[in-house]
Amino acid sequence: MNLLLLSPEDCPEPGLARLTGRRLKHVTEVHRSAVGETLRTGLVGGLTGEGEILSLSREEMLLRFVLDTPPPPKLPLTVLLSLPRPKMLKRILQTVATMGVQRLVLMNSYRVEKSFWDSPWMEAAAIREQLLLGLEQARDTVLPDIVLEPLFKPFMEDRLPALCRNTRCIVAHPGAAEVCPVALNQAVTLAIGPEGGFIPYEVDKLVAAGFEPVHLGPRILRVETAVTVLTARLFV
Ligand code: SAM
Repeated sequence: MNLLLLSPEDCPEPGLARLTGRRLKHVTEVHRSAVGETLRTGLVGGLTGEGEILSLSREEMLLRFVLDTPPPPKLPLTVLLSLPRPKMLKRILQTVATMGVQRLVLMNSYRVEKSFWDSPWMEAAAIREQLLLGLEQARDTVLPDIVLEPLFKPFMEDRLPALCRNTRCIVAHPGAAEVCPVALNQAVTLAIGPEGGFIPYEVDKLVAAGFEPVHLGPRILRVETAVTVLTARLFV
């Protein structure tokens, strides 16, 4: 946790926060902070700055804070991700938030197991919790936009064209003819397949929508690794 990320509910009055639970535990057990010390602090969706610990006990911490610094900018990147299994989704949500992805579309594709859509990890509160952990890591405060698209064809035909407008569209697909580009200076829409990969029909649909198939070399990466490698490669 490189940023103590506050929500309005944590603040009984402006500039004052009362913390319990996971963040208090982290401050006492990992940072081993004491009264009078300062912690990097931010408000969800807002600025970052410094907070001074006014009091600290096993039950709660009181913090006086001043926020004056904008969070790091987001990458101009929309990721279209075939919904991964829940355990992997949790980690990917954190990674997406840490890397500064602007928008994540969790979409259906043929090799996505239907049951994944009903997982408790798909609930809004569960998704938000993982995103906050990722933001804390990166000292960011702004949640990426999350869009759920459980039907492949209507998404491709009705909503994808608007998402793709004025962006370079790329689909990561092992065995593609072209290698993934590096250090782009433009907005990108990036499609990443499920653990079993996209089926040819899906790749054809993406190509018809203007996506360039690209590869990352002969090694097949796990989805979560591919998300990190692709993001770092496209925006060094
Ligand atoms: N057997 C699957 C296939 O050949 O498509 C492997 C899928 S891989 C585990 C999951 C996703 O990560 C792929 O659909 C792709 O988007 C991305 N990916 C992983 N390794 C890749 C590589 N070497 N080149 C391009 N994309 C890759």
